[in-house]
Amino acid sequence: MIAGHYGVAYLLKGGARPKWSLTTLIAAVWLGDYLCFVFTLAGVERQVLNPSFTRMFAYQITYGPYSHGLAGAAVTSVVAALAGARMAGPRDGAILGGAVFSHYLGDIIVHGPDMAIFSGDGPKLGFGLWNYPLFADLVECGMLAAGAVLYLRATRAKNGVGRSGLLILAVIAGAITIALPWIPPPPTTTQLCVGSLALLGGTLPLIAWLERQREPLPAG
Ligand SMILES: [Zn+2]
Repeated sequence: MIAGHYGVAYLLKGGARPKWSLTTLIAAVWLGDYLCFVFTLAGVERQVLNPSFTRMFAYQITYGPYSHGLAGAAVTSVVAALAGARMAGPRDGAILGGAVFSHYLGDIIVHGPDMAIFSGDGPKLGFGLWNYPLFADLVECGMLAAGAVLYLRATRAKNGVGRSGLLILAVIAGAITIALPWIPPPPTTTQLCVGSLALLGGTLPLIAWLERQREPLPAG
């Protein structure tokens, strides 16, 4: 899932209005993939190029119980919730943990059956919406649009950049999701992991800067 993950972050920021910045929530919803790429590079988890696995994404996780398993995601989310509760109180801790766990829930809708339950060698889940690009695009872009509208209505722009910056970013995320079947996959797993970490991590300072060009509106 791509656009849908961003949608959850926008939705949580605009709807629940936690103390966490939108940038922190975006990092939280992507934590599962950060861990997956780092663990794969470290040889702890494995993914392979398999163009026939789903029609929209050519990589298959062959061993990923920590980053993309139900039990692994639950543990990571509880740790995030407890750490968040210490920093910002129980409500915001729960929101941070929920953001982290949403990665698993979002991915299980679109992935092929490569998401572990407990052990990486046991049964795997994945409803395979990535085999139906039109429906996948509708779900993902619908989630992003709903989240972006809620966030934009809960905040106001301080300047011109604030008016359009995050909106443009959301449109780019939606366009990448729709274009996914036509984007050639990185030829090696290492290139997938390094490139994705650079892209996901590299955009966070830009998102943080764009977020500072808007300010929250009073609730209600
Ligand atoms: Zn993922």
